[in-house]
Amino acid sequence: MPLYTCPRCHNTFPSTDKPSACPECGHQWPIPASEVEFNTYYSTRLASIRESCAPGMTMDERNWTRILLFLNKPMVSFYTSHLLRHYVLEATPEMCLDTYRGFRWEYTRMVKQDRIALQLEGFKESRLLMRREDGTPLVKGWDHYGAALRLLYSFETTDPHKAPNLGNITRIDLERIAAQPSAAYTQFLWNWLEAVKDVPSPMGFLLSEAKPLLKLMKKDENSIKGL
Ligand SMILES: [Zn+2]
Repeated sequence: MPLYTCPRCHNTFPSTDKPSACPECGHQWPIPASEVEFNTYYSTRLASIRESCAPGMTMDERNWTRILLFLNKPMVSFYTSHLLRHYVLEATPEMCLDTYRGFRWEYTRMVKQDRIALQLEGFKESRLLMRREDGTPLVKGWDHYGAALRLLYSFETTDPHKAPNLGNITRIDLERIAAQPSAAYTQFLWNWLEAVKDVPSPMGFLLSEAKPLLKLMKKDENSIKGL
């Protein structure tokens, strides 16, 4: 559903037709939401959906859902909802696992890229880790850590004083998440799909964020052709 925003109270809200007034303050001329407003609206909503399901998930699932949300940007929800429905929720465990492996490959690639960039900036990751009270890692050059690498540092681990590494990604038991997901994890995926299924498709151009998702779909088309 398209999003609109109120120039007076800055409320962002979905509406099928062009709304005549802001539902919050009654201002007469809501305007289409900007890309930033669009992303903020959905990121906040999806994060709270994840929060509400997280207590019932396994630690692996909680880390994995962070990766899924990171790779599936709100702007590309048109593709995300397709992938969630046909390649995860309604797919066989084998096909679901295949999709997950594609996501893991892509995320690992991004983390490696961030690490190279960090080294080029002259910073070195340490093996041990201290955190500030708000949970931020106490490491030199934290501002130079890329988004994918920062996400890795937000993972739950069994030893909070050991810095996370690629092992924290490869050790996520995707076979189990694909074949025997917890009820809370599955609920999270359905709620996610419900929240984004009406997000309009990006207009006419290929967003760079959509490329990894399109690659995942393409792979499957090729395997069907190969049969
Ligand atoms: Zn308003």
